[in-house]
Amino acid sequence: MLMGDLCTRGCRFCAVTSGHPNGYLDPLEPWKVAQVVSEWGLDYVVLTSVARDDLPDGGAEHFAKTIRAIKQKTPTALVEVLIPDFRGDINALKKVVEAQPDVIDHNIETVERLTPKVRDRRATYRQSLMVLENVKKLDPTRYTKSSIMVGLGETDEEILQTMRDLRAVGVDILTIGQYLRPSPRHIEVVEYVHPDKFARWKEIGEAMGFRYVASGPLVRSSYRAGEFFVKSLLRSKEGELNHGS
Ligand code: SF4
Repeated sequence: MLMGDLCTRGCRFCAVTSGHPNGYLDPLEPWKVAQVVSEWGLDYVVLTSVARDDLPDGGAEHFAKTIRAIKQKTPTALVEVLIPDFRGDINALKKVVEAQPDVIDHNIETVERLTPKVRDRRATYRQSLMVLENVKKLDPTRYTKSSIMVGLGETDEEILQTMRDLRAVGVDILTIGQYLRPSPRHIEVVEYVHPDKFARWKEIGEAMGFRYVASGPLVRSSYRAGEFFVKSLLRSKEGELNHGS
């Protein structure tokens, strides 16, 4: 997780501490991360961060520097980034997209009706869809991923609508998982959804055209869906090349 452990937002489902980092950023973090990736010999890295509304670009340049540093030091490493909405600032988003991470994630988290109750008021459903749509507008070759938590009181139709909305903005990879309350201070679980329903959403999602759907009670947004998808894609490309030579 980049840019510290204090988030400028306060979503009601999230265990990260809210606070004011006062613009502090470790300028060496991108190279430190790249060094660790290289030393540990990692072939797939997921970078995430807190929301940094205290920074003019929300930390987009810091993400971009980290992606570039990793790719420079370990050219074979695949990089997935789970980004905040950068308050909808497309110029900030462009910095991340231009650094060419292999997968760009932004989580819609919940259905539209419940968004104001579940997420920080600065994070809107429409803005999150716009972030995902703008990634594809800036570079249609980037893969995008998003996640939905269920069990917060949404209806099945609302979940299907959220899936349709994500597909309509070109999202490639979808994860759906059960919301679990991190502490009694967080928003309560309304329902523990049956595993059969998760299996059904996977089928429906794949029929809708998502390239990969991970759906199950224990699937988290950080689930390795992006990794499975990108690695299998690269393997099939290598297979085609070997076959062709
Ligand atoms: S913006 Fe992200 S890290 Fe911050 S409180 Fe919301 S979910 Fe947690």
